Amino acid sequence: MPSQTPVSPPRRNASAFKQLRPILRMAANYKGRWIAAFTFLVLSAAATLSVPLVFRQLIDQALLSGDNLAQIFGLLLGVSVVLATATALRFYFMSWLGERVVADLRSEVYQHVLRRPPQYFETLQTGEVLSRLTADTTLVQTLVGTSISLSLRSLVLFVGGMIMMLLTSAWLAGLMLGLLIMVIFPILALGRTVRKASKDSQDKVADTSALAGEVLNAMTTVQALGREDYESGRYTNTVEQAFTVATRRNQMRSWLTAVAIVLAFAVIVFVLWLGAGQVVAGSMSAGQLAQFVLYAVLTAGSIAALAEVFGDLQRAAGATERLLDLMQDKEVPGAPDPSPTEVNTTAATAATASIEAPVTIEFDDVWFAYPSRPDHWAVKGVSFQLRSGQTIALVGPSGAGKSTLLALMLGFYSPQRGTIRINGRPLSYWGLPAVRASMGLVAQDPVVFSANARENIRYGLLEASDTQVEEAAQAAHAHDFILALPQGYESFLGERGVRLSGGQRQRVAIARAILRNPPILLLDEATSALDSLSERAVQAALAQWLPSRAGLVVAHRLATVRRATQIAVLDKGECLAIDSHERLLQTSALYQELSAHQFLETSG
Ligand code: ATP
Repeated sequence: MPSQTPVSPPRRNASAFKQLRPILRMAANYKGRWIAAFTFLVLSAAATLSVPLVFRQLIDQALLSGDNLAQIFGLLLGVSVVLATATALRFYFMSWLGERVVADLRSEVYQHVLRRPPQYFETLQTGEVLSRLTADTTLVQTLVGTSISLSLRSLVLFVGGMIMMLLTSAWLAGLMLGLLIMVIFPILALGRTVRKASKDSQDKVADTSALAGEVLNAMTTVQALGREDYESGRYTNTVEQAFTVATRRNQMRSWLTAVAIVLAFAVIVFVLWLGAGQVVAGSMSAGQLAQFVLYAVLTAGSIAALAEVFGDLQRAAGATERLLDLMQDKEVPGAPDPSPTEVNTTAATAATASIEAPVTIEFDDVWFAYPSRPDHWAVKGVSFQLRSGQTIALVGPSGAGKSTLLALMLGFYSPQRGTIRINGRPLSYWGLPAVRASMGLVAQDPVVFSANARENIRYGLLEASDTQVEEAAQAAHAHDFILALPQGYESFLGERGVRLSGGQRQRVAIARAILRNPPILLLDEATSALDSLSERAVQAALAQWLPSRAGLVVAHRLATVRRATQIAVLDKGECLAIDSHERLLQTSALYQELSAHQFLETSG
């Protein structure tokens, strides 16, 4: 199944380094650690580079004369201790940096994802985001923790080795440098192909996560329809695709490594052959050639390591590109009016004041079409007023636009025409945080988190005390059933609250809303009939609490409709009438039909 993630057009031409810049900026927050890591890196490189010098002394002086043998071997041992200590410390600091940057990156990406508007999540698959947060960030971790360290070390060894070779034999070293520069270009070209393959590979991994995520969230449907084999087949298919793409990437990487090593060693062997001729001719000592050989091996080794790291770098650049897509503050492509203009997401508004009761809510000729269906008005010129102490029940057939009006109130979308005002000011004046803080939402199928009952209610107001939580539960008529659970308020409610009935879940959500004590209540009644006990408890909770708020209720129950101050009859996005129950029964044919069928059927 093709992924429908709203990603930006790939920036293929941007260099890997440019794409990695945000990561490097994050890494730069830890300057002290970088300095420590770099110091130990240079120290270990210096120790490595001093080994060939000691060998030259060993061959040209100690072995010939027999003098200073003990000192020279002592020196070698000393160098190895420095090398070991510096390498271990470099490893520690670099790994720390890798872990740290990835932790920061994960938090930052998640923070961005949480603030995206709802249309973003209409096309984004949860598993895909999870894959990016885990798999892609792990690649970045390899980059910072290992690759940068390796490449810096190789670079220092390369430069140091070249300088030492130049000092040993300028002619041979010059020749070697010239040849090596010639071999770098094919390596760079191959590297670019690896980068493209890497991004494809990570995309495929994300596809597998997206698929699994979706299916695991719908297990009951899958099993009830006996689709286990079908789903496992689909998953295997996606996994195989990921495997094929990963294999292609690895083939390219293998080529990259092989080409780099062969080219580098060919150059060295050729140059050594010339050097051996010089020793035979007597223009170079054996110790000098040995020193040159060792430096040449170090240099070639560092080139090979650089080529490998270059592959990692390309992979990490691909991963970063995908992570940055999640962090972009751009909107979903194809959305005509995606950025709320009415509602200010950054809260940079004139008001810092919160919305206090009593409130007046006003829908003034509101027109709205969903970004994904710009030619279909979901709400057509709706106007009404609502004050504290009043409740408006929204009724109408399925698809009439009832839930959409709640979404508009919450500022999830902004109307294309018309204005929604609270206390005479448009929502944009208050800013999203204040608008949402003034509302309690009880959704149709309320979400209960995998935590205990107390924490689930406290989600409405994080700083609430245990007593406040219990008072809210009492007001929501949830206290008794919670106490009857095995561990009372400490009872774990299971993932997505599967251990609660629909009515109980709704009462937990009402308690959550009550705890916030907001001046406005938005309630989307469950369409399915609740058992009569639950139903009575929910109605009792609403009866106790609604009258003191401004309530906007998507009503499916006669009891709720009767309690409302006014009833808005909606059809195909239009508000056909707004009046009392009795009056509507006389004036509105649609209302008569609805009350004859829908309410009575579900009111128990
Ligand atoms: P129900 O009682 O079945 O929940 P409703 O009255 O709440 O229905 P809405 O959910 O508000 O109806 O839908 C109004 C219209 O908007 C419908 O035509 C629906 O298909 C469309 N719609 C709802 N959500 C979206 C969305 N996210 N993207 C595009 N269109 C949508």
